[in-house]
Amino acid sequence: MRSTILVLLLISLSCMGIMKPTEEFIIGVDLSMLYEIERLGGKFYENGQQKDCLEILKDKGVNWIRLRVWNDPTDEDGKPLGGGNCSHVNMTEIAKRAKPLGMKVLLDFHYSDWWADPGKQNKPKAWKDLHGEDLKDAVYEYTKDVLTYMREHDASPDMVQIGNEVNNGFLWPDGLIVGAGAGGFEGFTGLLKEAIRAVREFDPRITVMIHLAEGGNNELFRWFFDEMVNRNVDFDAIGISFYPYWHGTLEDLQENLNDLAKRYGKKIVIVETAYAWTLQDADGHSNIFGHISMAEQAGYLPTIQGQRSFLIDLAKVLRQVPNDLGVGFFYWEGAWIPVKGAGWKTNEGNPWENQALFYFNGDALPSLDVFVQILQDQPLPPPQVLQADEPSIETAPGQKPQLPEEIRVVFSNDSIKTVPVVWDLSSLEEMIYKPGEYLLKGTLNDGTELRAKVTVRGTAKADAVENYLVNPSFEAASLDPWKVEGETKAVKVVIASPPVNAHNGKYALNYWLDKPFNFKLYQTVELPNGTYKLSFWIHGGGGENHLRLIISEYGGEEKTLNITNTGWLKWNNPKIDEIKVTSGRITITIDVDANSGNWAWIDDFALLKTD
Ligand code: CA
Repeated sequence: MRSTILVLLLISLSCMGIMKPTEEFIIGVDLSMLYEIERLGGKFYENGQQKDCLEILKDKGVNWIRLRVWNDPTDEDGKPLGGGNCSHVNMTEIAKRAKPLGMKVLLDFHYSDWWADPGKQNKPKAWKDLHGEDLKDAVYEYTKDVLTYMREHDASPDMVQIGNEVNNGFLWPDGLIVGAGAGGFEGFTGLLKEAIRAVREFDPRITVMIHLAEGGNNELFRWFFDEMVNRNVDFDAIGISFYPYWHGTLEDLQENLNDLAKRYGKKIVIVETAYAWTLQDADGHSNIFGHISMAEQAGYLPTIQGQRSFLIDLAKVLRQVPNDLGVGFFYWEGAWIPVKGAGWKTNEGNPWENQALFYFNGDALPSLDVFVQILQDQPLPPPQVLQADEPSIETAPGQKPQLPEEIRVVFSNDSIKTVPVVWDLSSLEEMIYKPGEYLLKGTLNDGTELRAKVTVRGTAKADAVENYLVNPSFEAASLDPWKVEGETKAVKVVIASPPVNAHNGKYALNYWLDKPFNFKLYQTVELPNGTYKLSFWIHGGGGENHLRLIISEYGGEEKTLNITNTGWLKWNNPKIDEIKVTSGRITITIDVDANSGNWAWIDDFALLKTD
């Protein structure tokens, strides 16, 4: 009797959702390079003691691994292509070690012989001439063969993703969604469905995932997954790449995930993410996350604490997804330590060792402790202000200093944020008429006090040289009234206080994009006829196809000044003198035609009348 009541109680509790069995939050690490790293002698350590990499990760709370599979990672002469040489045979060797440790396996089918991502989805060479039903058959058979092989080796995957970052389809051109010769969504989903059919027939318990990059781009995800639903594609989970220096802010990600959860009701997994624990490079092959501007953009210092804090904040985003559909994340290539030969490509180096979860020598980083912390989901005390940028502002007598409304703050968890500041202006009126140096008190919203140094220099009229450009130093915290034509995504006004990336003030203009881009930044001003000089400040990595300063519409011949960037913080000060304005106006243009990854910081334009 008593037990009947207990059973009834349990049933009713479970109906009310109180006893809902909660699946463990996924803490995964992509280990696709591990086979090659170990083959070439790479070793892993915990507190100086050598251990199996998988065991270290297991001890740190990692409960899933992810492995990519390439059909045949060799060139036409049969030579290995590198990047982990991720054949299903090699990857099975890793998966079958994970299983006895109780870890689950996500298998990432690229359906390519080598790297596949939104920019390239090449068919395996063996399928080069296959189309239509022949190609569908090949996809179906291959998928089943790989799964069968893994099961025969006690290494069955628990989740399978059909394609890698298939933003624009896979198996191009047959499965290309948009572009020349594209099979469109019809061609893409035809192939996708064959792969899914193979997985479902093989083992219906396997979770089927579809994976896109650009986690902050809700428009893209809606466009893509509406089509999946309308075309009755049978999938269980949405996989997402989110690198915070490329794919938007955590707020953008949260917005996207919340919308996807409500719109499609599928499980959501961040299957690729990472953060730098250092900007150092260990092997002479430059790192993808190699520059401080990426950390400023992403909002965390490139430190062990910054890496840890990013992961805590990422997990927080997932936990806030409605209906518990944010089920976890995978850290991409967390064990890619620098080992000679284990490069992204045969005979090339490692672009990722500063984003691994191990020191260069293979010792586990302290940031790995964050996984247990995330699994326990314990609230952390709010981070304290560690350092606030104190502005230094020059002004002329009688002119109010341009005090920033927000301050860049580094917090005790190594996150970087802009925080509103309230300035105490009670002494401003009396001081700004007398030349000298003054300190103004500012207060952040948590009560932290800071000072702005205001230097009042010169006499009221003599030094007041008028700059005819508006918002010349981007201190308005926006582009306005500058205009941008072309790839607007590449151009941003960013907090970049000196001594970092700004030449003066708090803001500077930054351009950068992870694909080729071009744009024109320009401003037209009305001004009295006369002679003027124009200048601005720039530093950047170089490599643009062209970078030009152009003046036009001023009554004289259009003039172009070619500029070459010479490195980070190597400031150049391009100038055009003797501009004879006769039309009462002038247009100033920066014209950039850049290659993928080109970047620069631009600041402090000055257009001054010389007579
Ligand atoms: Ca490197």
